[in-house]
Amino acid sequence: MALTDWYCEDVLSGKLAVRKVFEDDRVLAFHHPRPAREVHVVVIPKAHVPSLLDERALDGDLLASMVSAIQHVARALGLDVPQADRPRGFYVRANAAAPGVTPHMHWHILAPGAGAEWPEST
Ligand SMILES: [Zn+2]
Repeated sequence: MALTDWYCEDVLSGKLAVRKVFEDDRVLAFHHPRPAREVHVVVIPKAHVPSLLDERALDGDLLASMVSAIQHVARALGLDVPQADRPRGFYVRANAAAPGVTPHMHWHILAPGAGAEWPEST
């Protein structure tokens, strides 16, 4: 069964309310509604890009905006320096060609809490 891209498109249209962290003309970063880690932010392009494996993911301006969004989020949420409650920094995960993944490119910014297993197995 092919997944539909309702989630990211509903976030982008404003139909689904999210807590935004950063936004510019190309990308949007928002807190995941069901965070899997102490901090869990999702970064998505505003233009539809189905996945990391799509030709449209090779747009240099878009990639620069995605990385710029990560930098903004890291500074805004204090992820750029170790904190007592999340001493292990953060990592960025981009799922691709995995079953059950929404077909709109999205990168996860994840900061594990102090008690989390490290390095993480997932
Ligand atoms: Zn989409």
